[in-house]
Amino acid sequence: MPDTPLAHATSPDLPGILARQRAAFMQDGPPGAARRRADLRRLKAEILRRRGDIVRALNTDFGQRSERESAIVELIPLVQSINYLTCYLGHWMKPKRRHVSAYFQCGGAWVVRQPIGVVGIIAPWNYPLSLALVPLATAIAAGNRAMIKPSELTPATAALIGEIVRAVFPPEQVAVVTGDAELGAAFSALPFDHILFTGSTAVGRKVAAAAARNLTPVTLELGGKSPVVIEPGFPMERAADRVAYGKLTNAGQTCIAPDYVLLHEADEDAFARAYRQAVERLHPGDYAGSPDYTAILNQHHYERLRGLIRDAEEHGARVIRLGADSDTGHVLAPALVLGTTPEMAIMREEIFGPVLPVLTYRNPDEAIAFINARPRPLALYYFGDRRAQRDRLLERTVSGNVTINGTLLHYAQDDLPFGGVGDSGIGAYHGREGFMALTHPRGIYRQGRINAATLLQPPFGKLTDIITNFILR
Ligand code: NAD
Repeated sequence: MPDTPLAHATSPDLPGILARQRAAFMQDGPPGAARRRADLRRLKAEILRRRGDIVRALNTDFGQRSERESAIVELIPLVQSINYLTCYLGHWMKPKRRHVSAYFQCGGAWVVRQPIGVVGIIAPWNYPLSLALVPLATAIAAGNRAMIKPSELTPATAALIGEIVRAVFPPEQVAVVTGDAELGAAFSALPFDHILFTGSTAVGRKVAAAAARNLTPVTLELGGKSPVVIEPGFPMERAADRVAYGKLTNAGQTCIAPDYVLLHEADEDAFARAYRQAVERLHPGDYAGSPDYTAILNQHHYERLRGLIRDAEEHGARVIRLGADSDTGHVLAPALVLGTTPEMAIMREEIFGPVLPVLTYRNPDEAIAFINARPRPLALYYFGDRRAQRDRLLERTVSGNVTINGTLLHYAQDDLPFGGVGDSGIGAYHGREGFMALTHPRGIYRQGRINAATLLQPPFGKLTDIITNFILR
């Protein structure tokens, strides 16, 4: 498909694109299941065709991004998600019969999941491809059109997203617009039918405020500090292995990365030893130039993370560096921060890097109180085999998704909703919940030829009173 000025513009006519998409949506009517499946298959085929370009673009944007990791954590979840949506969308689209009470019998009631129209998608830089295209696939599965604004901090991937989209969809179906925060602000002020935003809590607030002016519903996929709680007695090697995997994937630049660890004070040394070994197993060589390790996106975040480590040291923490940094490529080696206290800067912001603070508790309820004294996290990780303790923690805390005895992998479950709560987000997508979020549940009642309700219409009489009193008995 040729490039078109509409999807190509450098300072795009945002209201114009939206108006044309909406007009096409109204004119064409909702696409059937076959059309949606075909669109998703073409999207998947184009993604797979550009696989090499995708990992190269990600590598360009990060300076050093593990090609295999890009395939595993960026492409596999995207393709799996497209497969899942393709498989189930027909089932979700089917009208669902609802109950009709005795007085309205001979009629019928059902719910139709109606496409809502045009979805605005705003994506962040950390998984810049999948966090733009999984929302797109969801919007397509739900029968909608979409406009996407990728992050300006990953320009090579943003350009590639534009190419992929233009190769598959006409601009009145899907358009990609590129630009910075200013464009993002103008984008979120558009009267979309839904906005799906992924990014920081601070920007999420601005997007919610802009959307509220149009009464546009939002799904906000935000960030925060996701805790790991380790139960006393749990094998430290297993916990450390799985925490290290979650912390070092994409060098910690993952919204659901384990942010900090809460463990029993007697376990701190054992965990530190096990964590060092786990990190060495995952990354036996140097970090700079490693084909398996990812750099910090840019100088700003590299300096920010080094500042967090410095601040912790200055406030009395024992920092264990597990390798050498590289200033030239902003590659940050993993670090473990022992003796962390809540006042340290590292505990006051989302870390988003390969630095793991450890805090200790004396009894498990202290861990619950610690989590509840802070904004609700996007993910919660619990390591433990004692059912009662685990249930207590899960019942007494509120968070986004949970992985038990592991990290990150709830994200890979296509059949689970994905979303935060409170400061970590509003709403959820992925799988069925994504389809539901981007469709309108239109309830329909068909009145039958005979209907008891007509007995409650004027002219009222004795029979009306008998029926009314019967209902209100
Ligand atoms: P960010 O909030 O700075 O930017 C996200 C997007 O919003 C970018 O495209 C940006 O251009 C745009 N933007 C900036 N200002 C805007 C404005 N005023 N109005 C509208 N759009 C605006 O986030 P980031 O730094 O790209 O990403 C990191 C954050 O995203 C972290 O907090 C991370 O936890 C979170 N995140 C969450 C998820 C999730 O699924 N919950 C996934 C990945 C990242």
